[in-house]
Amino acid sequence: MTKKVIFELSAQHQHARSGRLTVADHQLLTPLLVQTGSTVATLTSEELQHLGVQAIKQAALPYWLAASEEQQPQFTDLHARLKWPGLIVGETGSEQAYRWAKPRGRKKDGVSFHEPQTGQQKRYTPEMGLTWQAKLGCDLQTTFSRWENYYAPVDDLRAAGQQTSTWLPNPWPQNTLAAIAGGGLKRVRRLGVQAAVAHAPFGYAIVGVDPEVKLDEQIRLLTEVTTMLPSAGLRYFPTAGSIEQALLAMVAGMDLVDTDCAGQAAQHGVAFNGLKRLHLAKEHLIRDTATLVPGCQCPTCQAGYSRSYLHQLVMTRQPLGTRLVLVHNLFVLNKLVAELRQAINADRVAEWTTERSLG
Ligand SMILES: [Zn+2]
Repeated sequence: MTKKVIFELSAQHQHARSGRLTVADHQLLTPLLVQTGSTVATLTSEELQHLGVQAIKQAALPYWLAASEEQQPQFTDLHARLKWPGLIVGETGSEQAYRWAKPRGRKKDGVSFHEPQTGQQKRYTPEMGLTWQAKLGCDLQTTFSRWENYYAPVDDLRAAGQQTSTWLPNPWPQNTLAAIAGGGLKRVRRLGVQAAVAHAPFGYAIVGVDPEVKLDEQIRLLTEVTTMLPSAGLRYFPTAGSIEQALLAMVAGMDLVDTDCAGQAAQHGVAFNGLKRLHLAKEHLIRDTATLVPGCQCPTCQAGYSRSYLHQLVMTRQPLGTRLVLVHNLFVLNKLVAELRQAINADRVAEWTTERSLG
């Protein structure tokens, strides 16, 4: 059963805003990070919660594929399956399907593609994308979008934006965010916003911005789109590749930002120190007995693991190294977001970003 979700704004400073998302009896403060990818795949539910993670993202596509191949005919609610009591933000996973599809696979009723593992032809539709997010028990859902590369030709981006708007469901399902596509094109995004606003959705998802898109361009686009959106309604930015992208998306007015930056950095042997990075593969760390960040309250630093030992784990590619660094990175990341939230509430966003040399 879909839980009741309520979003209320608390403060606004320039574009940035803070608020409160209530899901059944859980209260979450926004802006809020949503963890995804390797971060969710590396740590247990208990570890994620212990580190202050409150929300994770799940795409419906892999579950739908597994069920359609009868590998996993039985599905339970993902909260039970993943042992995750927090918020689950759902998305269709249509981007992946489009990446697998040939140009002729872009249909009016969805996307046709060959599933790489089995070679089987599949057709994924907007209805399936939503039905499966509901079946998986996602607390928030995102509508289906036609994916295009951010820098695709104008005609392709316009077609993707229009198609995404025609797929907005009617009547509007509860707890559902409207996908707004259109690359970096103001006109296309504006039409997408207008089409979505007509449905009075729970919120908006600004899709089609890959982590590879330059940070300046991402922020320019998000700032532009937030000025088009009504202030009521949750704003979700699904893909932030780095800490800077995640934080600046929040400064630009996004309430929910998903990212795997903590996990990606850990996999590359990189530890966060605020917005600075410590590259653990550096040879001089062999003799460094300090913890990752002296004074850090995370479980890795509190246990006293030295840079020297973590250097050795990283150089020998031990999974333990990734886990220990990820625990630290997530802690640092959550602390930065908590600081930004306080800065928004205290009307100090500009000072905070300047102190942090952010943008
Ligand atoms: Zn630490």
